[in-house]
Amino acid sequence: MVSRVIPVDPFDLVIFGGTGDLARRKILPALFRRFSDGQMPEEARIIGAARTEQDGAAWAEWVHKALKEFLPKEECDKALIKAFLERLDYLPIDAMGEGGWKELKGKMRDGVTQAFYFSVGPSLFGALAERLHAHGIAREDARIVVEKPFGRDLASARALNATLAEHFNETQIYRIDHYLGKETVQNLMAIRFGNVLFEPLWNAQYVDHVQITVAEEVGVDGRGAYYDKSGAMRDMVQNHLMQLLCLTAMEPPNRFEPDAVRDEKLKVIRALDPVAPADIVRGQYVGKQSYLEDVEDPSSRTESYIAMKLHVSNWRWNGTPFYLRTGKCMKARGSEIVIHFKDTPHSIFEEDAGNKANVLSIRLQPNEGIDLRVTIKEPGPGGMRLVDVPLDMSFADALGPDVGHVPDAYERLIMDVIRGNQTLFMRGDEVEAAWAWTDPIIEGWKARGEKPVPYETGSSGPEEALMLMHRDGRRWRDIV
Ligand code: NAP
Repeated sequence: MVSRVIPVDPFDLVIFGGTGDLARRKILPALFRRFSDGQMPEEARIIGAARTEQDGAAWAEWVHKALKEFLPKEECDKALIKAFLERLDYLPIDAMGEGGWKELKGKMRDGVTQAFYFSVGPSLFGALAERLHAHGIAREDARIVVEKPFGRDLASARALNATLAEHFNETQIYRIDHYLGKETVQNLMAIRFGNVLFEPLWNAQYVDHVQITVAEEVGVDGRGAYYDKSGAMRDMVQNHLMQLLCLTAMEPPNRFEPDAVRDEKLKVIRALDPVAPADIVRGQYVGKQSYLEDVEDPSSRTESYIAMKLHVSNWRWNGTPFYLRTGKCMKARGSEIVIHFKDTPHSIFEEDAGNKANVLSIRLQPNEGIDLRVTIKEPGPGGMRLVDVPLDMSFADALGPDVGHVPDAYERLIMDVIRGNQTLFMRGDEVEAAWAWTDPIIEGWKARGEKPVPYETGSSGPEEALMLMHRDGRRWRDIV
């Protein structure tokens, strides 16, 4: 199968924070890949902007190094890199200052799509938005891209939304949650809504429970100062896990269009019951790597792990719990959404024949793919012995080598910005609803003076998280 690449319209993309870590590791490699694939047209231009005083040639050299560092060698074709670097330009601009804006205006072209990537801390969003307007740079159809964290509670998210709304309409604002750009996450929607097979079973009558796991092998990894103010709840659950939960639990939107999809996701967040303290486990890694040694505050009560049991209070999901967990320093890196179906209503086979419930797992990383376990007869003459086997579909195996690499989330999302498609971006009200649900949980921990429980670095998480499942007669899937 050959991938079909449809070039996007020519664009001017300004990356504020063009000298930063995100630009280097994600944004620029993603743009280069889209260029190599023929999706980013020759007329497109990328303008880096940050306070660092340098010219376009120096920035292009820095970008060149980043591409070599973050892309596999075989992708670094010299001629392609040269052609890509020719599309780059740079301007020293301080978001809080007045210099450089006139020059930026001079560089923007009429008749091409205009996008501004705010790859800087959120405290600069207001200054950037205000100056882009004051200097008459942003057109009415310009797009802005903003990164997580989008606030640290409801009040700050509302304030950020209000600041952006002073200068841009909601249709211009692209709030990135890169989990939504992952191929498998989009495939979750394809599977649910592109097949007649699953949707009739996708409810409390047939689904016993759902597990959503995002496990990381690394610790806070040099981001201790930021992470310690945030914790797993703010850094992972409020955004990434919540988005995965929404896509799994939502009703079918009437079309695969931005507001239709986002309306349905919002309904899921609003249907979430408050979580009882007994249904949440917070952990901190200890042992050969220790959270308290990775952050500055030796008495920190910030969680590096969280497991929780949630209920979506609506007709579809009444009685089907959703178990979420995420943590750092776990035994392996692995993210998946797992739908555990119920047992058959009546078994015609012997009790010990080996009949198992169906399990559908959607793997986000590593090895993006989908796996459905079904029961079959064990081959051979030994009577009716049953085994559950995978109907495994790894994308690379199923689609063949011609399909090319599975694109990184940023490749898809940046191209969607240029195409003007907001389906895979969070709307302001969604983000606020997620914080409105998260805030009381965090406030409860504070009010009760709760400390996270320890878990061994390299383990599957705290014992208490295993118990959260065991007491319901269930168990977490192994993280492999
Ligand atoms: P970073 O490495 O600290 O880079 C910050 C960038 O902002 C630099 O280019 C810096 O360049 C520029 N900058 C700082 N102050 C400025 C000012 N007053 N005017 C103009 N430019 C200014 O941060 P990052 O990791 O790239 O993160 C950028 C944003 O993405 C943050 O909001 C972060 O939370 C978010 N994010 C990052 C990651 C990641 O993996 N890195 C992942 C998800 C989200 P100068 O010093 O030259 O001005």
